[in-house]
Amino acid sequence: MFGKLAVWMLPLVPRSVVRSVASRYVAGETAADAMDTVRTLNAKAIRATIDILGEDSSSQEADKVLADYMAIADEIKKQGLNSGISIKPSHFAAHEDEGQAFDRIRQLVKHCEDLGVFVRLDMESSRLTDLTQDFYFRLAKEFGNIGVVIQAYLKRSEQDMKKLAEAGANVRLCKGIYNESSDIAYKNKDEITDNYLNLAKSYLTSDKGFLAVATHDRGIIGQIDRFAREKGLTTEDFEFQSLLGVPIDDVIEAMIKKGWAWRVYVPFGEEWYGYSVRRLKENPKIASYVIKHMFGGKA
Ligand SMILES: Cc1cc2nc3c(=O)[nH]c(=O)nc-3n(C[C@H](O)[C@H](O)[C@H](O)COP(=O)(O)OP(=O)(O)OC[C@H]3O[C@@H](n4cnc5c(N)ncnc54)[C@H](O)[C@@H]3O)c2cc1C
Repeated sequence: MFGKLAVWMLPLVPRSVVRSVASRYVAGETAADAMDTVRTLNAKAIRATIDILGEDSSSQEADKVLADYMAIADEIKKQGLNSGISIKPSHFAAHEDEGQAFDRIRQLVKHCEDLGVFVRLDMESSRLTDLTQDFYFRLAKEFGNIGVVIQAYLKRSEQDMKKLAEAGANVRLCKGIYNESSDIAYKNKDEITDNYLNLAKSYLTSDKGFLAVATHDRGIIGQIDRFAREKGLTTEDFEFQSLLGVPIDDVIEAMIKKGWAWRVYVPFGEEWYGYSVRRLKENPKIASYVIKHMFGGKA
């Protein structure tokens, strides 16, 4: 009950408070902040993927987003960092002009291919699922450094994963973050977790393809670890992924010790507010964080 109350209160919490409790989830406001975070992760044998925060851009803004991502890719190469980039089609204004957005993304993927930098198409709400998968399949025909995301809460995902398995795609599997209707999405937590495990295990036993197991769910991580050892899988087949700031360092360390690969999603940029609020809503300790800050304490 306390947790629900705090989530409801979140829009009332001053930005400065959200900023201080949420800063752990964002590398900072500048590209240099993101590079510093990636360097620290790489020093602990953790891979990264960099995301410039933002979505639903205008076409004019999207040109700057393209230029900024190009510069990030150049910097990853120049500094010899172990990092890819993660991008959202709506950040490239796909909802305004699909053709132009595709051209921008194609230009970026080509530039990144030359630099040896991997590009992941994040998955947004269901209004963009078909578009994002279409972009993925068109780009994958031309380039090898591209991957896509599947959300386990969507009922269509089993069919989508079958097509991606046939194509030998690099897929990140997550539970899904958007508020979707029960016509198209599972709403029950256990159902989503079961679907996640079924999708992950069948993808891991398909002949081709690579799976990024993106979750902080310790139960899922444990099951995939056991399954992968039973099946004799290697880091050529899959990696684990988590979001910057979510407190599962003990699990990351344990999995790396076992020889598995781990990648952390590193968001940065001026658009930190919406992202941080989403992360705070997922945080089980949200009530104590918010309430302590609202009453002047330190979390
Ligand atoms: C690398 C990565 C990339 C992602 N990309 C996408 C994407 O492209 N599209 C999309 O829709 N979603 C994406 N997501 C978000 C994802 O869909 C989930 O919303 C999010 O990961 C929470 O689900 P979970 O699997 O961790 O399971 P949950 O059941 O939500 O959480 C598992 C455990 O982790 C803890 N936890 C989770 N989040 C937090 C937090 N913020 N702070 C503290 N503890 C926390 C909870 O206590 C819980 O016990 C991504 C997630 C990751 C890890």
